[in-house]
Amino acid sequence: MENIEVKATFDEEIYECNHTFWDFVSMYKLELILALVIVVAAVSVIAVIVVKSFKKKHNIIRQQEERVIILQQKRYQMIIDNSDEMLYEISMQGDACISSEKIKEKFGWEIPKRVEDLSIRKLSDILHVHPDDEDLFYSSTEGLVAEKRSKEILIRLGKGDGSYLWCNVIYFPVLDDQNNMASIVGKIVDVDSSVKEKLKLELQSRTDGLTSLLNKQTFEADTIKYIRDNTAVSSAFVFVDMDFFKTINDQLGHSMGDQVIRDTAIKLQVIFANCDLVSRFGGDEFCIFVKDIPAETLLDKLNFAIDKLSDVYSNNGIRVQLTGSIGAAYCSDPTVDYGQLFACADKALYEAKKNGRNQFVLKYI
Ligand code: GH3
Ligand code: MG
Repeated sequence: MENIEVKATFDEEIYECNHTFWDFVSMYKLELILALVIVVAAVSVIAVIVVKSFKKKHNIIRQQEERVIILQQKRYQMIIDNSDEMLYEISMQGDACISSEKIKEKFGWEIPKRVEDLSIRKLSDILHVHPDDEDLFYSSTEGLVAEKRSKEILIRLGKGDGSYLWCNVIYFPVLDDQNNMASIVGKIVDVDSSVKEKLKLELQSRTDGLTSLLNKQTFEADTIKYIRDNTAVSSAFVFVDMDFFKTINDQLGHSMGDQVIRDTAIKLQVIFANCDLVSRFGGDEFCIFVKDIPAETLLDKLNFAIDKLSDVYSNNGIRVQLTGSIGAAYCSDPTVDYGQLFACADKALYEAKKNGRNQFVLKYI
């Protein structure tokens, strides 16, 4: 009897030890599913909370950054607007371009906030660069882009009313952390009055006050330079002197004499080409250097000139017939110099006067 009990206890132990994992699962199926659902739900809730708080934090940082950028832009615009300088910034992406109010006040236009397909040509259009200064602007800006270095150029910028102002444009590249150009920042300085004054003085020093033709010194310098640089062409040196010009002064008055000199200057400018050097040598003497002209064409021009210079002038009922004499030297010799040409034309003029005036004498060198 005792033995049987012992065996029974032993069998129960053996039975308990034989429970497998799957037995356990099948035994506590419901409890396990419930526990799993609770765990998944808890993990999901935690994940959602973490993601949300991360997003919120990220959004706050982004908003803070945006606020800082907007504030910086406002500050930047404010500084630009309140500066006495005309400043601008054009971003290479064509967005967020900026320019000071002073530019609008001075020129009547402003740099657009957004620029599509930014190019150097577009940049030139935006700044209203004078057509004659475009080449300089293009090459300077190409240099700025290639060298990533600042540039300073003197160019004319257009105003809303169609006029132009001489300006110094100083502009430089703004580079990003990759050393790529992010934008161009520029400063425009109005130097119009000083440049125009300088140009006026330059022009005055080059021209004759009464006729605005080249003066003797400039004519001589420009002719010498042309002869030196253009040895292969045939040119002519033409000397014009009005006949008995003193009569005009004496009979019609000195101011009428001045008017006749101005009138003669205009006639000579019309007869000869724009590229020719037309000058007043002094008194009633004019010198023209005719560039690259065939001998037959020169003969036609000289005939035409003699015809045009012959004119009647009157003042207070007094009429005076005026004519002109011309001495010309035609030259195909590349070794000839200014002095030889001048002497030859002067000699020809002397002959024209001696032969009775109102005529030309042409000599060939
Ligand atoms: P010719 O045919 O020999 O040339 O006689 P001409 O009277 O023209 O004599 P010449 O060319 O030697 O003298 C030019 C005169 O032009 C002398 C001067 O009284 C006058 N003259 C010179 N400069 C001016 C000027 O700026 N204005 C005026 N009205 N007369 C001038
Ligand atoms: Mg004379």
